[in-house]
Amino acid sequence: MTTQAASREPHQLVHGGLAMHELVRRLYPLCRSITGDGVRRTLAIVGESIPLDVSEVPTGTEVLDWTIPKEWNIRDAYVKDADGRRVIDFTESNLHVVGYSVPVPPTTMSLGELRGRLHTLPDQPDLIPYRTSYYKETWGFCLRQETLAGLPDGDYEVMIDSTLEDGHLTYAEHVVPGRTDEEVLISCHVCHPSLANDNLAGIAVAVRLARWLGELEDRRYTYRFVFAPGTIGSITWLARNRERAASKVRHGFVLACAGDRGTPTYKRSRRGDAEIDRAVTHVLNGREHTVLPFTPYGYDERQYCSPGFDLPVGCLTRSTYAGYPEYHTSGDDPDFVSPDALADTLTTCQSVVRVLEGNRRYVNLSPYGEPQLGRRGLYGSLGGRSDTQALQMAMLWVLNLSDGVSKDTTLLDIAERSGLSFDAVAEAAWALAEAGLLKEIR
Ligand code: ZN
Repeated sequence: MTTQAASREPHQLVHGGLAMHELVRRLYPLCRSITGDGVRRTLAIVGESIPLDVSEVPTGTEVLDWTIPKEWNIRDAYVKDADGRRVIDFTESNLHVVGYSVPVPPTTMSLGELRGRLHTLPDQPDLIPYRTSYYKETWGFCLRQETLAGLPDGDYEVMIDSTLEDGHLTYAEHVVPGRTDEEVLISCHVCHPSLANDNLAGIAVAVRLARWLGELEDRRYTYRFVFAPGTIGSITWLARNRERAASKVRHGFVLACAGDRGTPTYKRSRRGDAEIDRAVTHVLNGREHTVLPFTPYGYDERQYCSPGFDLPVGCLTRSTYAGYPEYHTSGDDPDFVSPDALADTLTTCQSVVRVLEGNRRYVNLSPYGEPQLGRRGLYGSLGGRSDTQALQMAMLWVLNLSDGVSKDTTLLDIAERSGLSFDAVAEAAWALAEAGLLKEIR
């Protein structure tokens, strides 16, 4: 976290937003699900930017209270009218087929017979809903209500060229090593087909964050990125990493809905006041944002925060889980995601990392009366900076609260109590330590 690294960021971010948006667009057409080649192709593309350790877990493997399901793949599907015209066409949008639909050979049905298999959104007639049936074998189609309204009675041919067979569940990890093996876990789901904000935006921000972390000169923590299908994927990771989860994960967050034009939302971990909860809320303070209490629903924080694990893992989004009209519809397309919002989410994540990395405890070595800062060049060194006053106040706060008595007082405690930014407090502590007035407590 050098000043040099900080000064490079704005330049990176300008390009970062566009690059992240480009990745969203590239991944968008792939038909992902909780298993199958769509996930593999997604991870292969992510792997072009950051090296991934990919795991394949066979169908039937028991993972905690769950079992890895059959693997699903799909090549084509349609509903054709009497003229042979595709009125519902998988190749137009992969949302048209209910996820995990069993294969259906070409079959002629009346519209009346077909209706029970058709899903629409009457209140959003121009959007295709996203539906799945992972754990009950069935099939179906999703379409715009306005398309359904225009279908005349009569016979239709339906076909789904899918397979549901023994195979594997695929997930991947990317690790950025640090000085210690204490870990920060960052988790994204990779199981949604053509949905941009709810899925791809989180992946795009995570990829960029991983690259930025890799370029830092020094890292205190090891950062582990998990790209796994929602629910069953994080459960699989937890089942195979019980020991790591219990002993190594110090902080973490689930990253999702990372690119819509809403303001940031943070959902606290089950613990409620874990360091990650305090770090994120501190970073978001002073700007428009929402902080939500923990609930056992939502994204994969549900699994990481299940009581047996109770990991300090929150959830960072922009609009909340299921909290926007385009959620789980064809309206959640790449245009719903903006490069600026992606860049803003990335900046937020970087600020959170800076707090986690820099949150140390110190003791004041000159606690009797204020030490004379001017004599040590600590005022002069800050001359001409617009934030001089904040830095001076930060030095006074750090000296005062790092009393060596309350040994648990961290720089984040000082930032919260003083109302100053963490960056100012951390910079003040660094300057005071350099001047020999402060010593880190390890
Ligand atoms: Zn979703």
